[in-house]
Amino acid sequence: LNDAAFRLSEEAGRCIGCGFCESVCPTEPASGYVASRGARGRVILSRELLKNHRGNLDVSAFADSFYSCLDCYACYQVCPAGVNAGLISHYSKEIIGRGGAPPLARMIERMIMRYRSIIPAGRRTSEWARNMEIPDRGSTLLYTGQMYQLMAYVPKLSRFLHRRFPGSGFTASLALRFPPIAHISKLFRDGEVAAAMNASLRDIALLLKSSKIDFFYLFGDEPYPGTLLNDLGFTESFDLYSHWLTDFFRSKGVRRIITVDPHTYDLLKNVIPKRVSEFDFDVSHYLELIDASKLKMTGRKVTFHEPCHLSRRFENFSLPSDMLAKCAVTSMPARSGRNTYCCGGPDELLFPEITGNVSRRRNEQLEMTGAEVTVTACPVCSITLRNDRKVMDIASVLAESSGI
Ligand code: SF4
Ligand code: SF4
Repeated sequence: LNDAAFRLSEEAGRCIGCGFCESVCPTEPASGYVASRGARGRVILSRELLKNHRGNLDVSAFADSFYSCLDCYACYQVCPAGVNAGLISHYSKEIIGRGGAPPLARMIERMIMRYRSIIPAGRRTSEWARNMEIPDRGSTLLYTGQMYQLMAYVPKLSRFLHRRFPGSGFTASLALRFPPIAHISKLFRDGEVAAAMNASLRDIALLLKSSKIDFFYLFGDEPYPGTLLNDLGFTESFDLYSHWLTDFFRSKGVRRIITVDPHTYDLLKNVIPKRVSEFDFDVSHYLELIDASKLKMTGRKVTFHEPCHLSRRFENFSLPSDMLAKCAVTSMPARSGRNTYCCGGPDELLFPEITGNVSRRRNEQLEMTGAEVTVTACPVCSITLRNDRKVMDIASVLAESSGI
């Protein structure tokens, strides 16, 4: 057994088949209760993969089961045997590898390795920082990882790929053969979303400044962190990229990194240091650094959608909800804290129908709190949930409350 197969065998081997995980897995109801799109189905299929992966198994028949997993870890919270079907999906994608991955996943890998981003958006990713007098060198880096900025492209690009070319394989295959065609992705920028995302980034920077935190920003040189290389199971590319990123940060004199979104925070804090021993930067989330003594109650009535990558990847990470409660009348939805419900966003590019159905279900839960506004602390959640409800980034609520 190779490394991924060994880890998969250990994880899947503990499953006793009780099905508790099915009751919380968001992708199963979102797919019309197709068992292969649920947590237990993924465990069962992973065992088939293990038995046959060295033979002539046609992985295309069930690869979608693993690629549609949201990586939300809700299943792990309820499993009596401590099995994580999210990790099982991850190991399975590693085993399936590039040969069995959907063309769109391979296109994303190609883009990141070639352009250090999912979309070659260039200098537009740094327009939020214009006129903010942020230095371009120093030792404490404000690292956006382009996550807020890329959200301006994702919904329109996804609609184009899937409406014009159902299954999205055609365009992706074309882009794999002729990489420059990927530059058309720049045309899918949604100006309204870009303005909202830029405003959130400005609020984050202002909150840090008003808390007397010094930082610098890399502007047009800032690379994407490589999150999707890891999420899609391209381990070899992810390792290469993580080593490159480590050297890049070091070449810029970075010693401390302030992240702004849950996915990058999780990647830099929990994932990369396990794979690259030289990655020894001091990594924080911006909410850990801002001065909470300035927060005042605004009277806004809100509900809070907690991002899976903060609530379930970090023990007792209640910082965002604690801060929000100081400045807004906050009603938490029934699924909160460690039991929060994914927004569905991680499936947007590959399985937009699942994303739509998961986000509708989450919005119903948020609606039941009676609050008119949803607050969240993740650009992916923000863009996914805003279709049916008014959504604010927590940075904007905190900035308003601090009088910035
Ligand atoms: S809850 Fe755990 S033990 Fe039960 S079916 Fe799911 S993975 Fe298996
Ligand atoms: S990680 Fe989330 S989407 Fe994946 S199997 Fe578990 S509950 Fe389902």
